[in-house]
Formats: sequence, structure tokens, C-alpha cells
Amino acid sequence: YRKELEELKELPAKTLDGHEVEVAGNIGTPQDVEGVLNNGGQGIGLYRTEFLYMDRENMPTEEEQFVAYKEVLQGMEGKPVIIRTLDIGGDKKLPYLNLPEEMNPFLGWRAIRICLELKDMFKTQLRAILRASTYGQALIMFPMISGVQEVREAKTIVEEAKRELEAENIPFDKDIKIGIMVEIPSAAVSADIIAREVDFFSIGTNDLCQYTIAVDRMNEKVSYLYEPLHPAILRLVKNVIDASHQRGIFTGMCGEMAGDPINTLILLGLGLDEFSMSALTIPQIKKIIRNITLEEAKEIANEALSLATPEEIRDMVNEKLNKLN
Ligand code: PEP
Ligand code: MG
Repeated sequence: YRKELEELKELPAKTLDGHEVEVAGNIGTPQDVEGVLNNGGQGIGLYRTEFLYMDRENMPTEEEQFVAYKEVLQGMEGKPVIIRTLDIGGDKKLPYLNLPEEMNPFLGWRAIRICLELKDMFKTQLRAILRASTYGQALIMFPMISGVQEVREAKTIVEEAKRELEAENIPFDKDIKIGIMVEIPSAAVSADIIAREVDFFSIGTNDLCQYTIAVDRMNEKVSYLYEPLHPAILRLVKNVIDASHQRGIFTGMCGEMAGDPINTLILLGLGLDEFSMSALTIPQIKKIIRNITLEEAKEIANEALSLATPEEIRDMVNEKLNKLN
């Protein structure tokens, strides 16, 4: 088994009929890069930068952030690295930021909402990412986007950071790609509008499930409702992928849904371009992708879309998966 994984590592995530996707890893720190590479990850689909900010007494400086981003980019040797800007608030607090207590933290002041208000903090991070961008292939991703206005505002601040660096003669990747996490239903539903103004989408199913099904992702009592294979989630995922392809941009997925084998055939069939997950599940997902044709996967996705409940969908997919092995 180990030998099989070792071989898989070098192989592309390509279907039997030649359709290639990317299987990537989610990381929280530069130390996680090694695990992604060892498991055959072809990029970083989500670098959660908030760990740089947590468990400390003060804000990380531009230099500290630059060093971390550079280390990840160099470690990945030119493979794509999607750096998500600060996603704080909700369940994640920063002692030195004094975030207000809220009745509904998951619906409150978090992530891009904080960054667009604390502009200097945001620009410091963007400058660090831009400076690091010459050491590999960096992409910038904004979390918790609810609509296109936030995309425009965030991009304006990226432009400001770029102008500053230019004035200081500091090099950066002038064509750096900018995308968003699709993890709020309003963004998923209006993906056709947002697609005009970004270079890629990455679907954050952890929050997308929470917000679409109205089920707190931390609450055990209602966890039975938390279901990525809910017909509503599949329809949102399809809408996002279709909207991106109509504009010629790609859609990835970096929520837990992307790393669970039960979902792989459906996501592949819906046209997902990049699957990003914890390093350990990469080989398994790659193997499933390499054992089916895109045509078959499309049929499975269509069948899934015709079914009424997560259970029915799971039963159907399990049958197909058993036949593969
Ligand atoms: C998500 O919401 O699916 C996601 C990947 O982000 P996080 O789990 O960090 O909220
Ligand atoms: Mg999220």
C-alpha cells in the first residue's frame, strides 16, 4: 500500500479519459508544506494565515509575514500557493484586537469585514504577500465575501499596496491572481456577477454548509443536519463552477467536502478544477480521480442532482465507488 502511495505521488490527477484537475493541500504554517509535498500535493489550495496572528500579544509585522509567505512559496517550488487573507472573528479571537462580544459571531464582524475597516492591518498583510510573490506562484484569496462590492474594495487596497511597493522600488508579481472564497450563500448564488471581477473561486464548504443549512458548524446538537451532500449544497456548487467556467476562470474547493472520498466523483463530474484538503487525504482522492472517466463522473453528478436526500446520494455514490475498486 505504501509503495502504491509512493507511486501515486508523482502521477497527475488525471481521469481515464485525460481530464486533468489539481489536487492540493490546506496548510496553516510553513511547516505543513513538507507533508503536502510528501503526499503528492500539486499546490496549496488554502494557506490559512490567521495562525500567524494567533497565540501572541501583538500584530505580526510585515517582515514577519513576508518571511513566512516566502518560506511557503519557496518550499512549493513554483507550484500555486493560494494565500488567504486574515480570516479572524467568528470563533477565532485575537487578544490584541479587542473584538467586541457579539450575539451571532458567525454572522458578525469577521474576516474581510474586519480587514476592510482596519485598512492598515490589511495593507500590511497584502504588502507582505506581494513582496513574497516573487519567490514562487502566489495567489491572493479573500475570505467571507458576500457580494461584489467587497471584492472591489479589497482589490482597491491591493492596488494601493502595489503602488506603494512600486514607489519603493520593491519587486512583486504584477500579474498576481486574485480570487475569493465562496462560503456565503449570497456569493454562491450571485457567482455569475462576482466571476466578472476575480481570477478564481474556491468554495469553502465548511462555512457554506453552515450558512446555507442554518446549522452552527460547532454545535453537536444540530450536527446531524450538517450535510455537504444536501441537494441545496450540490446546486450551489454547480452554480459556482458553471459561472466560473462561463468566464473562463477556475473553481477550487478548500472546505472539508473536497477531501472526503464520498464526494469526489460528484465534484469531478460537476467540473471542479482544484481539490484542496489536508495532506493525508491527497493520495486517496487522487486515486479515485485516476480510476474513472470524466464522462462517468458527469453521469454520477447528474444522477446525484436528481436525488432528494443526502442518504440517497450517498448510497448511489457508494455503489459506484465499490465498483471502481
Ligand atoms: C471553509 O469555510 O470551508 C473554509 C475552508 O474555511 P475555514 O474552515 O477556515 O472557515
Ligand atoms: Mg470559512
